[in-house]
Amino acid sequence: MKLNIAIDGPSAAGKSTIAKRLAALLGYVHLDTGAMYRCIAYKALCRHLSLTDEAALCALIDQTEIELTPQGEVFLDGEKMDQRIRTDEVSMATSRISALKGVREKLVARQKKMAENKGVIMDGRDIGTVVLPQAELKIFLTASAEARACRRYRENEEKGMASDYEQLVKDIAQRDAQDMQRTVSPLRQAADAVLVDSSNLSIDEVVDLIRAMAEKKQKEAKS
Ligand code: C5P
Repeated sequence: MKLNIAIDGPSAAGKSTIAKRLAALLGYVHLDTGAMYRCIAYKALCRHLSLTDEAALCALIDQTEIELTPQGEVFLDGEKMDQRIRTDEVSMATSRISALKGVREKLVARQKKMAENKGVIMDGRDIGTVVLPQAELKIFLTASAEARACRRYRENEEKGMASDYEQLVKDIAQRDAQDMQRTVSPLRQAADAVLVDSSNLSIDEVVDLIRAMAEKKQKEAKS
């Protein structure tokens, strides 16, 4: 029997990478909810909308189609998105618009629908607390700000992008603060979520750990 798995945690903790690998191993569908918020922020920036104009942003969502494919592609109004939704500017804008109640309500409603048929691994900030409170397995994946900045630094290096380590630590801390201090659906660990600190663990180690938990839950659900 398939379950729904929620993975929440701060930015750059490795949620998407881990969720993608787990989905492939378990035969589940990975849904990256951050990509949905990123698409709206990107479209709002392109249209020069105010990032605090909740009514305009909600209207924008109603006119926006976002598709997340099982292959991990993101389509915004039919156009395949790439690094354009992953720039620092879009990351900061995303953190701001995702603090707005109306924006969250609209995207959360879409996310709940996407998980109706189970077999979904959804990653984000409020999956275990708000989007899928009934998820059979909830993980809160975290790592120190320094460990996360180090990973981002290496990723950027691999892409041939120069970055400033100190600035990365500052940006991560600022996004953590914005995500944790907002009044609507702040980032927090669900009471029944398992805390996984990946500061000193490899991707494979984290994947193995969560896979074992998922397989145990699947067996329990069968019996
Ligand atoms: O996961 P990712 O870093 O791509 O998310 C980008 C931003 O989107 C986060 O910093 C957060 O502000 C917002 N977000 C959210 N709720 C989610 C997923 C992402 O508020 N479920």
